[in-house]
Amino acid sequence: MNPMAVNIQSLAEALPEVKGRIKRDVPLSKVTWFQVGGPADVLFKPADETDLAGFLKSTSEDIPVFVLGVGSNLLVRDSGFRGVVIRLGREFSKIEQIGENLLRVGAGASDLQVARYAEEKGLTEAEFLSGIPGSIGGALRMNAGAYGNEISDILVSATAYDRQGIRHEVSAEDFGFSYRHCELPCDWIFTEAVFKLSAGEVSSISRKMAEIAKSREDSQPVRSRTGGSTFANPPGKKAWELIDAVGARGLSKGAAQISEKHCNFLINNGGATAADIESVAEEARRRVFKEFDTLLRWEIVRLGEKETGAMINEKEDRS
Ligand SMILES: Cc1cc2nc3c(=O)[nH]c(=O)nc-3n(C[C@H](O)[C@H](O)[C@H](O)COP(=O)(O)OP(=O)(O)OC[C@H]3O[C@@H](n4cnc5c(N)ncnc54)[C@H](O)[C@@H]3O)c2cc1C
Repeated sequence: MNPMAVNIQSLAEALPEVKGRIKRDVPLSKVTWFQVGGPADVLFKPADETDLAGFLKSTSEDIPVFVLGVGSNLLVRDSGFRGVVIRLGREFSKIEQIGENLLRVGAGASDLQVARYAEEKGLTEAEFLSGIPGSIGGALRMNAGAYGNEISDILVSATAYDRQGIRHEVSAEDFGFSYRHCELPCDWIFTEAVFKLSAGEVSSISRKMAEIAKSREDSQPVRSRTGGSTFANPPGKKAWELIDAVGARGLSKGAAQISEKHCNFLINNGGATAADIESVAEEARRRVFKEFDTLLRWEIVRLGEKETGAMINEKEDRS
């Protein structure tokens, strides 16, 4: 029997009884936009918040846990993830209006669903979400934004669970938001958010969303296996301009390529490995550093084992 199978077996045995679903040895390439990377030892879909809290409380903190949104900002390394990946399902995807301009939204809902719901209710300021292909949980963690708006602009408060299963109600101020980043502990799992929007005209909201969709199609490889912006823009600069200036547009390794259409996007042209994708980006990063003395910061979260064998979760290693 292979030793990894034994480990997965003993990991699964160390986990508590749950109401939701637990699956072993789940290929993460099937649930991330890049469609690369190895398996998670265990995938857990909690039935509800109580199930999630109970699981976190009863699971040894020695067992690594990672919460996945819809994998649109995630590069899973080829060796996969030795631990438990948590995915929030339908129970966590509810959207409801709770006041004149207030929405309560489950962290598993997609950004697009929230934008469409707001449109339907004649609420403006959530249009930017229609162009971001992630979940609300991922948007909170990443302070997702586009076209001059960020999640921090509309957030009132959120609910999160820590690694001990303790529930926290946090205000937008508690997040310590900055560009594509929040300061809350990296192992907190968001389950819900409250957004404050403003009354608007449905026709103008719809027009804005259509403009966003068109602009995305024109400027980004939205139909490719990609991961969104690879690197955060350094202060006062555009990452894509730096990458372009060092001649890395279109650079490839195996089936991994820096997009010709938007050179801060990486593409899996089919059959790429995570290692190829990461290394083609690292080459661009190396050139930019050499030429401009600017070290680009990875915006895409990388998950899994480095070649040295150390487990990393990019939220902790922001180099
Ligand atoms: C074509 C394309 C275009 C994009 N355009 C934009 C853009 O304009 N603006 C922008 O900001 N981003 C953009 N992105 C990146 C991405 O969509 C966002 O970062 C998004 O918010 C990630 O959400 P996700 O659910 O996919 O998170 P994932 O990729 O699954 O995870 C990203 C991080 O969020 C954490 N996370 C996920 N869910 C939770 C949760 N419930 N609680 C706590 N942490 C959680 C994960 O642990 C991980 O650290 C784009 C991506 C693509 C592929």
